Amino acid sequence: MALKLYNTLTREKEEFEPKEEGKVKFYSCGQTIYDDLHIGNARPYVYWDTLRRYLEWKGYTVRHVQNITDVGHLTDDGDQGEDKVEKRASELGVEPMELVESQIERYFEDTKALNIERQDIVPRATGHVNEMINYVQEIIDNGYAYERDGNIYFDMDAYLEDYEYGEMAKKDIEQLKEEAESRVEPDEKKKNQYDFALWLNAEGTGHLMRWGATFQVDGEAVKVEGYPGWHLECSVMSQKYLGDEFDIHAGGKDHIFPHHPNERAQSFAATGEGQARYWLHNEFITIEGEKMSKSEGNFYTVRDLLDEGYSGDAIRLYLVSSHYRSETDFSKEGLEKAEKELRKIRKVVQKIGWDEDYRGKNQFGEPGEDEEGYVEEFEKRIDDDFNTAKAKQFLMKLVSEANETLEKNPEEGESLYAVGYGNFLIEAFEILGIDVRPEVSEGEAEMADTLLEVREEYRERGDYDEADRIRDVLEENGFEVEDTEDGARWFKVG
Ligand code: AMP
Ligand code: ZN
Repeated sequence: MALKLYNTLTREKEEFEPKEEGKVKFYSCGQTIYDDLHIGNARPYVYWDTLRRYLEWKGYTVRHVQNITDVGHLTDDGDQGEDKVEKRASELGVEPMELVESQIERYFEDTKALNIERQDIVPRATGHVNEMINYVQEIIDNGYAYERDGNIYFDMDAYLEDYEYGEMAKKDIEQLKEEAESRVEPDEKKKNQYDFALWLNAEGTGHLMRWGATFQVDGEAVKVEGYPGWHLECSVMSQKYLGDEFDIHAGGKDHIFPHHPNERAQSFAATGEGQARYWLHNEFITIEGEKMSKSEGNFYTVRDLLDEGYSGDAIRLYLVSSHYRSETDFSKEGLEKAEKELRKIRKVVQKIGWDEDYRGKNQFGEPGEDEEGYVEEFEKRIDDDFNTAKAKQFLMKLVSEANETLEKNPEEGESLYAVGYGNFLIEAFEILGIDVRPEVSEGEAEMADTLLEVREEYRERGDYDEADRIRDVLEENGFEVEDTEDGARWFKVG
């Protein structure tokens, strides 16, 4: 079945066909590393990780690159303002790289808690400054950049003679010109206000992170200590690891302008190719209707939510429960609902049982034998513009149906197992990034067995208060107790 993706470039759902058969080259814009991950930042990373899992499940070999911005992202989206990393570092009284080191560690801890697998390559901007300098030189040599006082600017007028610019943001050039000119502080050094910086001269500024570069401009060597413009790193690192033209480029919807058009323009200017063929943008998470953002201060960090006791699995389930292109207003009730859903899924899976090698071990997807068509239904839903929300809804429907069947007749567990119902649920949730198999060590299982026996004894003696207390202890440890005709049974649900 064919996956369709909404391509921001064309504003249409297009059938996904990778450039090279069977292989997907995928770049997503990553974190500017100066603060803890908030749930809004986590949203795109969870989706892109899920997309990679899904593509792999469909049989593609995927190379996923997601960068880390540790220099160059300014507080203003244009070419003005302070470097975000430097600003925070100076507030804390530490070196920028000291801040980056500690934040990177926290970033990987947080993403791991959300089951986001480390991408195949996680390039850091500061590790690619040489490549960036060479790339700027290419753009100068191709006639699309000029130098003013050691700053290198992208020459939009020269570029527009050969390539388009407004397609991604659906803005025409006059509109872009007007917008750029109405900025508060015009940059007198630019030929046109809609030109943007590729390289900025650090002399006379307080910038700590700076590199020596020599550019050849009109036959003369220009030596300058400076730093890269923010958009440069993604053009450079995506090209280095994925080539001049690759398959998917993803990011938040704030990148529809100016980050992605600028990346694309740089790529055309340097290589003649427009970088990616499919451009994906996720909508925002809001809080009471406002975008969740660090600068507004209205955010929940992943760390805080974990500390409050929400599980990483529940946060992940909550995030994939909405479509990446729909805006979602964050609520803790939503997280609590996801916790409950997880318990329900885990319980059903334990009731049915599964095989060690569960992947592909179900009878739903077999051509000809596929009476139920569950695999197809699941796939059909995600295939429609990567709709994890609808796919998850379908899985929850199956979970509820299995639950009802088992409540009416626990014996049915065997027939559900026989058709691979448990295997299918485990595999499908794994694509969404959630392992629904219980994690119970031998020691824990023994403890739970013993506690259940003791509870039985209390119940036989009619001491229901004590029996309930023991059930509470089990619950606190993530076990749910169910009394059946054949006696009590535990399930690991937390
Ligand atoms: P930043 O750290 O602000 O550069 O954001 C990192 C990534 O998270 C970018 O792809 C942003 O588009 C995305 N992002 C930031 N805030 C939100 C939000 N509230 N909802 C969804 N995505 C967001
Ligand atoms: Zn980027």
